[in-house]
Amino acid sequence: MNKIDKRLHFLLGKVKEECKKVKELSDYELKNKTLEFKERLHNGETTDDLLPEAFAVCCEADYRVLGMFPYDVQILGGIALHLCYLCEMNTGEGKTLTATMPMYLNGLTGKSSILVTANEYLAIRDAEEMGQVYKFLGLSVEAGVKRDTNEKLDNDSKKDVYNADIVYTTHGALGFDYLLNNLVQSKEDRFMRDFYYVIIDEADSVLLDSASMPLVISGSPRVQSNLYGITDFFVTTLVEDVHYEIEDKKVWLTNKGIEYAKRYFRIENLYSKENFDVLRHIVLALRAHFLLEKDIDYVATDEGEIVLLDKSTGRKMKGMKLRGGSHQAIEEKEHLKLSQEQRSVASVTYQNLFNLFPKMSGMSGTIKDGKEELLEVYNKRVVVIPPRKPMIRKDMPDKYFKTSEEQFDAVIQETVRRHKTGQPVLLIASLISDTEMLSKLLVQENIEHSVLNANNAFWEAEIIKEAGQKNVVTVATSMAGRGTDIHLGPGVKELGGLCVLGIGRMSNTRDERQARGRAGRQGEPGVSIFYTSLEDDVCTILGEDFLEKYIDKGRYISKHRIKKLINKSQKIKDESSVSQRKSSVDYDSVMKRQRTIMYKTRNDLLDGKSLDENVLIQIYKQNIDDYVKENKKMDDKTMYRYILDNLSYRLKELSISSANKKDYLKQYADMAFRDKKQLLGNRFSEYCRLCTLKALDDGWIEEVDYLQQLQAAISGRSTAQRNLLYEYQREARLSFLASVHLHLVLRLVPF
Ligand code: ADP
Ligand code: MG
Repeated sequence: MNKIDKRLHFLLGKVKEECKKVKELSDYELKNKTLEFKERLHNGETTDDLLPEAFAVCCEADYRVLGMFPYDVQILGGIALHLCYLCEMNTGEGKTLTATMPMYLNGLTGKSSILVTANEYLAIRDAEEMGQVYKFLGLSVEAGVKRDTNEKLDNDSKKDVYNADIVYTTHGALGFDYLLNNLVQSKEDRFMRDFYYVIIDEADSVLLDSASMPLVISGSPRVQSNLYGITDFFVTTLVEDVHYEIEDKKVWLTNKGIEYAKRYFRIENLYSKENFDVLRHIVLALRAHFLLEKDIDYVATDEGEIVLLDKSTGRKMKGMKLRGGSHQAIEEKEHLKLSQEQRSVASVTYQNLFNLFPKMSGMSGTIKDGKEELLEVYNKRVVVIPPRKPMIRKDMPDKYFKTSEEQFDAVIQETVRRHKTGQPVLLIASLISDTEMLSKLLVQENIEHSVLNANNAFWEAEIIKEAGQKNVVTVATSMAGRGTDIHLGPGVKELGGLCVLGIGRMSNTRDERQARGRAGRQGEPGVSIFYTSLEDDVCTILGEDFLEKYIDKGRYISKHRIKKLINKSQKIKDESSVSQRKSSVDYDSVMKRQRTIMYKTRNDLLDGKSLDENVLIQIYKQNIDDYVKENKKMDDKTMYRYILDNLSYRLKELSISSANKKDYLKQYADMAFRDKKQLLGNRFSEYCRLCTLKALDDGWIEEVDYLQQLQAAISGRSTAQRNLLYEYQREARLSFLASVHLHLVLRLVPF
């Protein structure tokens, strides 16, 4: 036993001792423990001190309210979560109940304790079911999401949510709320408290798979560019490996491609500042055409909208838009009406969001595979909790086929065979189109079934409830592959439990283990088989020529070789996701530093701090200096424009004899400043505070938006030529200085 395990077991012993005492308490006495604990925390004891007793109280409440007393392995898991480890507990071991103990203990502090999970369905389910326990014990609990994802919470309801002792929500909702909370205009509008403790359920999905795409909030519309159409067409005329190359989910123009682009757009230098926009649009079009695929990365809705898909959960990502014009580039590629391009006003990656919690922990059935990456990016260790009962699910060896036709045929035959016996069957495919295909084939066989994919997510709970009953066949995307708890109906155990049939290799083995994990929960019987073929999505990596030779031209290939190729493809795919996430972390580290400074300044301003008057004067003078330097040939008209835009509504004639425009402007500003001060009297400092806030926000929004675009543009340059990250960081630093410098001015709002 290693040191960590020893500590966990030592604490388990303590909890068990306390459990014996707590058993004797009446309901009333048990509830009263909450008050006692709160008081003791108040008097200086720590959550670590209280752990044994508080866990025992929670165990007893779990039993009295839900009829389930946490098993020893669950208590061990709960302790590990409190100690901020990432905890691997097998699928079906009961992580939902495990979380109640550390949530209760940390909820006692009155600080914000949050459980984040991978989707709305799970957040609402667990808030409702586990919520009963917290409420029984006198803590408040809220769900941060609604079943209908279109329904939005207003700021007041959000305040109620985040004021609760315990919040269940999704990573997306939490991230957006964090950004929105840092966009409010007054301190009364802030709805979030400082982060304290978080448990991330399905932690590998949240911390790894979702982490390559940052959250972005869009704001005011940008002037719509007219370059989408022409660059889209340009890109369709390019030839792979001649004009552009693809590698590792990146695409860039070759030297030949660059020459061609220059001729096509009649420009001298594609990489000069004036042509930044052309380059950016070419890059966007390249990515839309060669890196993003319909029904895999996004779907086009009947209303002509593009909605992104989360690959690991198979869900639509409502409200998520690709950044810096990527969305419009896809719309152009799909020949849809372009949506309004909006400026990004705030953005954060999940890596940085969760690193904001002083105490962060996570759990999942499949997290140890990502051990090294998690240690590197989040500085978190994984502990593995053993299963309570040995698993008796039968995981059959994968079946390999050359073509998808044979693959689907075999799956349907197996479904028919098992369905005849009454055994429930759950078919899990990676792609929506595959679920639709399977559904058609099942109809041909006269097998009644339900389909669960991103298009009918609303019925998720109902469909999942049925999935473990006799004779039921369910077809689903990876949506049903995580977190869902499928209960076996009467008589199903005798039939061998639930049968999970996986169709196609998934992007990584974790997702496959999750899919299998829908069967054989809590030591029940079950079976799982995966059907794979060379036409699986992961195999596109092998290249079209290769696949054509074997599939279209029917060349012979041994099963052994197929197996090797599929395994290799999956491995490459997984490794490329890892490297993509690492690069996203690297790129965001610049923004992270800037964001930290900005949000801190912002919060200080909201809380009433304000700039010293002399600093303000200094800033507007500096600003005038800069302006004059940039506009050497300033005529009277431009100067008056500057005054109207920045200093005053009305132009007053100043009796200034100076012919020097710089001095004139400075004196004008001094006068405007004095006037304003006199006019506002003791409200002047409040006024300055608001002006500073506005200036800060304007500058920051510009910076965020610029960084998004810069990243898009830079990623289109060949990696061989430059160190892109270095270039990005340098540019980002300069632009931060510029935007803050230019905007952290006292913009005397026109009066
Ligand atoms: P996981 O999230 O680990 O995959 P769940 O939390 O969904 O697993 O729980 C799986 C099933 O085990 C649920 O149906 C739950 O009610 C049941 N369960 C969990 N813990 C206990 C317990 N201590 N006693 C009885 N049943 C339990
Ligand atoms: Mg779970």
